[in-house]
Amino acid sequence: MTTVLGCIADDFTGATDLAGLLARSGVRVSLRIGVPEEQPADSSSFEVIALKSRTTPVNEAVSDARSALAWLQNAGAERFFWKYCSTFDSTPDGNIGPVAEALMQAIGTEQTIYCPAFPENGRSIFMGNLFVGHQPLAESPMKDHPLTPMRDSNLMRLLAPQVSRPVGLADRLTVAKGPWALRTRLSDLHAEGVAHVIVDAVADADLKIIAEACGHMPLLTGGSAVAMPLPALYLSAGLISEEAVGMPTPEVEDRTLILSGSCSAMTNRQVAEYLETGAPSFQLDPLKLTEAGAVDVLKWLAEQDLGQAPLIYATAAPESVKAAQQVLGVAGAGEIVEQALAACAVAARDAGARRIIVAGGETSGAVTQALGVDRLDIGAEIAPGVPSTYCQSTGKQMALTLKSGNFGTPTFFTDAQEKLRTR
Ligand code: ADP
Repeated sequence: MTTVLGCIADDFTGATDLAGLLARSGVRVSLRIGVPEEQPADSSSFEVIALKSRTTPVNEAVSDARSALAWLQNAGAERFFWKYCSTFDSTPDGNIGPVAEALMQAIGTEQTIYCPAFPENGRSIFMGNLFVGHQPLAESPMKDHPLTPMRDSNLMRLLAPQVSRPVGLADRLTVAKGPWALRTRLSDLHAEGVAHVIVDAVADADLKIIAEACGHMPLLTGGSAVAMPLPALYLSAGLISEEAVGMPTPEVEDRTLILSGSCSAMTNRQVAEYLETGAPSFQLDPLKLTEAGAVDVLKWLAEQDLGQAPLIYATAAPESVKAAQQVLGVAGAGEIVEQALAACAVAARDAGARRIIVAGGETSGAVTQALGVDRLDIGAEIAPGVPSTYCQSTGKQMALTLKSGNFGTPTFFTDAQEKLRTR
């Protein structure tokens, strides 16, 4: 099967989120973890490659994205999607802008759009400013993110220092007029030499207009939601065959482990809510991990009944995250926690766990890597942007649910177990 849309995501949960939304249309979606070494004989209509490049040095992020692009081009793709977080997680150095520019250059296109809006999850863009629920981005809990604190809400100001060519805006007033008005605005901006266009969107209807106006562009960039209307568009244009539709759900035993390495405000609530249920839990402390490693938690885990879905978490309030970072550094604290949670995932699999629920984008990356998983098949949705996924780890059929920090409702950890049981 020829790939119609080749997607590159800057982290694992971003990739699962995108793959899940594309799969809502019923089309078959494959998610590859990292750029596969080999070109498969048969690729899916929608291929998503998950990188781990949100916070890597710019040149690494660019070179990873170039390899992913080459793989997708070999799979037959002529249109591409660069997926980053709906809260535009980045720093003045990158990596959103530099990767977009490198992809544009490699594809040979002079303009792309940026639309991280995800109305269903409360992310909207108006006059180029990104909102999280009712709050501007820089007043939202994202201002305290451990790795990419967001201290400005204006996407043009956030993007400009990351790119070499001009940045412009197609605002909501234009989008609301429909695909033709948006296309005209884009070509006017192109005539002015604007390569990078932020596009406002506050509702799903805007995303549909944007997809209709821009679905033909060689490169689109944004959050997952703006890609959601693309499968239907491609199906109606006859670009996808009937074979691309539908996937059976595998049987997975129900012994479960929950791992939480996200410190987002929503994950803090989800952990608190799950602790209320009285489920067994173990809290990781980065400072103790530096002194004694993961011995204590692994010992605790070995004594647990996986039928009760125990929770291991490093999730903590911003003050306590900062305190650990002051001693260990931001990357050092992140790494030590990720490695401990990944070791727990491996130990749990070896003890018979077949369902692992993970909170945190970087954390999910570390867990899948440790489990040796390089491909996920996308199943039903657990929460907006969080699909169930199925994979093989050392020949065992497993279900992994990978949630990025801000997604899901407060009862996510129980919801996820329930949905996996009744799928
Ligand atoms: P999110 O999806 O919310 O961004 P991530 O897993 O991507 O979550 O990022 C959270 C980062 O914070 C990870 O690197 C994780 O290891 C680190 N972390 C988790 N708990 C703590 C803690 N208590 N102190 C310091 N860093 C932590």
